[in-house]
Amino acid sequence: MTEARIARVALPGPLDELFDYLPGAMGQPEPGTRVLVPFGRSRRVGILVEYAAECGCDPSRLKSVERALDPRPLFAPADLTLIRWAARYYRHPLGDALFTALPARLRESGPLLASGVAGIRLTAAGAALTPAELARAPRQQALLARLLESPEGLAQRNLEEELGGITSALRALRAKGLVESCRLEPGAVASADSSAVLAAPELNPEQAAALAAVSEALGGFRPFLLDGITGSGKTEVYIRAIAEVVAAGGQALVMVPEIGLTPQLRERFRTRLPGPLAVLHSALAAGERERAWHQAASGEAPVVLGTRSAVFVPLPRLALIVVDEEHDPSLKQQEGFRYSARDLAVRRAQLVGCPVVLGTATPALETLHNVIAGRYHRLALPRRAGGARPPTINLLDIRNQPLRAGLSPVLRERMHAALATGGQVLLLLNRRGYAPVLTCHSCGWVGVCPDCDARMTLHLGERRLWCHHCGRIESVPRDCPQCGGPDLRMLGRGTERLEEGLTELFPGVRIARIDRDSTRRKGELTRLLAAVHRGEVQILLGTQMLAKGHDFPGVTLAGVIDLDHALYASDFRAPERTAQLIVQVAGRAGRAERAGEVVLQTRHPEHPLLQSLLREGYGGFARAALAEREAAQLPPFTYLALLRAEAPEQEAALAFLAAARAHAEPLCSSEVELLGPVPAPLSRRAGRHRAQLLVQCAQRPALQHFLAHWTPTLRALRRIKGVRWSLDVDPQEMV
Ligand SMILES: [Zn+2]
Ligand SMILES: [Zn+2]
Repeated sequence: MTEARIARVALPGPLDELFDYLPGAMGQPEPGTRVLVPFGRSRRVGILVEYAAECGCDPSRLKSVERALDPRPLFAPADLTLIRWAARYYRHPLGDALFTALPARLRESGPLLASGVAGIRLTAAGAALTPAELARAPRQQALLARLLESPEGLAQRNLEEELGGITSALRALRAKGLVESCRLEPGAVASADSSAVLAAPELNPEQAAALAAVSEALGGFRPFLLDGITGSGKTEVYIRAIAEVVAAGGQALVMVPEIGLTPQLRERFRTRLPGPLAVLHSALAAGERERAWHQAASGEAPVVLGTRSAVFVPLPRLALIVVDEEHDPSLKQQEGFRYSARDLAVRRAQLVGCPVVLGTATPALETLHNVIAGRYHRLALPRRAGGARPPTINLLDIRNQPLRAGLSPVLRERMHAALATGGQVLLLLNRRGYAPVLTCHSCGWVGVCPDCDARMTLHLGERRLWCHHCGRIESVPRDCPQCGGPDLRMLGRGTERLEEGLTELFPGVRIARIDRDSTRRKGELTRLLAAVHRGEVQILLGTQMLAKGHDFPGVTLAGVIDLDHALYASDFRAPERTAQLIVQVAGRAGRAERAGEVVLQTRHPEHPLLQSLLREGYGGFARAALAEREAAQLPPFTYLALLRAEAPEQEAALAFLAAARAHAEPLCSSEVELLGPVPAPLSRRAGRHRAQLLVQCAQRPALQHFLAHWTPTLRALRRIKGVRWSLDVDPQEMV
């Protein structure tokens, strides 16, 4: 170790470089510690990333770190390695990536929450007491007796588990000055008795084989695809594998696309696995989130359940990663640090040396491609647990059919039949609001968003026009704003209008709508789902939220109202997403003993995607879709990066991209292809014009090599007024 060590510090913000400081008086804290440093005329919180023997400049000109903010590093070396890798791969400034991975409060200079686990111990006065002296307060007496046995203190959680409700007894002892709070090392906490884990259902042979494969792989890196149809019991396989990991002293990380949508999964984890369960997602209050982060990082929580950002949570004993619904696009962060949590989960498992299980009923084509290439190992659960039969899928040609409330006569008749036998009906319409278009019958005026290249959706319940792209809200005009005529008409149908139509068509039938509007209030989704489960709802309608991991055992008929919209979307991933949605919805029908039925309304029954799905199921569809992607040289057979620019004027956005392209051309190897710049499919949003430049390459390393040289030139480009840009590596959305 040389004398003059240079501390290299990452700072949040757009600067993609490390800043050199002299260690000063801070000593030599380990990398991963937050430090306070002078920066320009101000002071900033940074993260110490590494030490260097020398810097490229005169060390005497360096400033010194003011002080270290943490008694121990927030990131272990393995965490730093992962985040550095991710920042490099996604071409995002390291400081910003590191700060993204921290709970909000720690991005400032605030102190860590007291570390360890909340505990209770006796004060000197308490220790001098004998239990007999508290004979008149038996609960206080019991507490005192228990604490006398453990002078170092006991976790409050353990005390509660052992003695039951202790809150008032604790308060009384505290008031008398006999006990005080303390922090305990996580190791000092007795973990929940594993016999408390509820009786586990018996595994079928495929589940048992999948579990055996994962257990055998523990201790080393191995990526699995758990390809299980809906209802085949994937969660049971996760739970058993996690229980094994936890019993051996390890930690498990489970990632899901949206936690608010999976209360059932959370509940199963809570009841079946030893706690505490650390739950991490963006809807948590900052304090709760930070506490969960500490529970994970300290090792106190053996199991961590979280959304995509949980992929960065420090886990000192990480031994298994599970990504549920791995095909879900919301595992990709769409702004700022644009990472794929699924892909990073695989990378993290590789760095740590543990298995990673990607579970889904509808694998992403990328993942299937990795299976075919032999990189991932596929475990199949082809049967529904409990022997329930899969639903039959029928295409319903609605050309020339008289529709009422968007429902064809055949679908209406099937609905009546299902309801008559006591079944529940699920209807999917992937469009919220009342009507997607408000138009004038006299002059043709259409309600468009003044800030976007898009129409405003009519929400009748709230009596407003709402732009789903920028959030702009306007009141509904009484007369046509253009000609003053009174004949304004609503075209098309959203979930709100479907609900209204159903109420008329099925009088007396109880109907529930599940979409982002109806579930905005906290707890509303849980309440609606519970009502469905208790059988208080007979028709359930909603958007794709319905296809996200809920169980609806009473549903015997599922209908997709309008498929055609998705069949002809411009995004090359639209067919894949549509097939996934259909299969996920189908999986909700007939899960118990009764076989279900799925009806897809379409005007294009001959569409090859629908035909391959119908004949051969998702696997057959995926094979056909992969062949198409290969022929068109699209991912996963090529690799993409998308440079987006937006500005108040379209010319400015395009000019920036043209300059970016000019810098790219000399750097391009023969494998790298530049497409654009062109206006984006949604060419204006929130008053800003949008354009994009696509980079396509047959080899991932060649693309990375190109990006490594190109990105710095983008940062150095002459600023064009009002232009904002971003780079998206492996983009999931092309709009
Ligand atoms: Zn008009
Ligand atoms: Zn708008």
